[in-house]
Amino acid sequence: MSGENNMQRVIAIDGPSGSGKSTVAKELARRLSVLFIDTGAMFRALAFEADRRLIDPEEGQVLNAFLSDFKMDYGKSESELIVIDGVNLTEKIREHHISTLASVFSQLPSVRKYLLDFQRSLALDHVCVMEGRDIGTVVFPKAFAKFFVTASLEVRATRRLSQLQEKGDTRLSLDQVIADQQKRDESDMNRAVAPLKQADDAELIDTSGITLDEVIAKLELKCKELASTNGIKL
Ligand code: C5P
Repeated sequence: MSGENNMQRVIAIDGPSGSGKSTVAKELARRLSVLFIDTGAMFRALAFEADRRLIDPEEGQVLNAFLSDFKMDYGKSESELIVIDGVNLTEKIREHHISTLASVFSQLPSVRKYLLDFQRSLALDHVCVMEGRDIGTVVFPKAFAKFFVTASLEVRATRRLSQLQEKGDTRLSLDQVIADQQKRDESDMNRAVAPLKQADDAELIDTSGITLDEVIAKLELKCKELASTNGIKL
């Protein structure tokens, strides 16, 4: 099937961190029995590896040389979501400081181009739920279903803090998480290439006042309707 047709067989879920989009996207994919693709994990892993190799994001040539032989294995299983050079980074990339690193590297056009191609290649032969910041606007502008999932800053930071605490990281206060989140939102929304924004044809879903279960049920119904209207077999 051509890339153009495949492009439409994507459910694009974008939004800021802590909006609940990852939980929603993952469960939605499970219920629809389609592939789930977490693009944030890719930005995190690439940034982690670049930082480990002491790549300066300002040094264009060095960065390009790094990207020209960079490879990651994505999606072997949930516990081996991201593997680089045989090292399983799935847990490591969730650490708080990696969020900030990912946000820095995600500003760079060459990094975005590298991951854009990678993301498109993964979706080529599958119907999938892909979540990120620019899926409905840049990566798959012709996705058959698009949602922009958000919530108030306080709700998002509280969710993020409890995720970190569940993983045993109790070093941060709510105020610190709010401040970091705000900074990350600003740089994600204001970057020159593929900023975080709602696609004109994406449905806005505010998860502040409703449970994620309700959100998932709503999206499941909507996706089934849209798939049927567009002749897409789930
Ligand atoms: O979604 P997650 O919080 O894991 O993403 C980490 C960072 O990666 C984001 O703050 C953002 O800077 C970047 N990102 C992006 N585009 C995507 C997914 C993530 O720029 N599609």
